[in-house]
Amino acid sequence: MHERSLVATILKQVERIAREQRAHRIRSIRLQVGELAGVEPILVQSAFDELKAETISPDCVLMIEHVPLTARCRDCERVVILKDLRFQCPCCHSTSLDIVEGDTVRLASIEIEEESVPE
Ligand SMILES: [Zn+2]
Repeated sequence: MHERSLVATILKQVERIAREQRAHRIRSIRLQVGELAGVEPILVQSAFDELKAETISPDCVLMIEHVPLTARCRDCERVVILKDLRFQCPCCHSTSLDIVEGDTVRLASIEIEEESVPE
């Protein structure tokens, strides 16, 4: 399954960062999922719930941020949000568009807990 391998890759990446920071726990992971990324957030969530059991932090929380499909119009030069994945500028109706964001899955941030220092 596409979402499952995606989540596995992200978890590996997060665990590597956590190790580098000498963290013993990952509190949360924030992902930005583009509307056109081709993944179902609900499947990402269920794959995460399943796979996190094998990480250093089985109680880690996943937050998914939805990123709308955004493009720059080559004709009127506006940056516009494309609703319902319609490739047409809502201002001038041009179809000459460059995607700015919303077509990828990105690791936005992670929250980790470092080894506690005795007070
Ligand atoms: Zn336009």
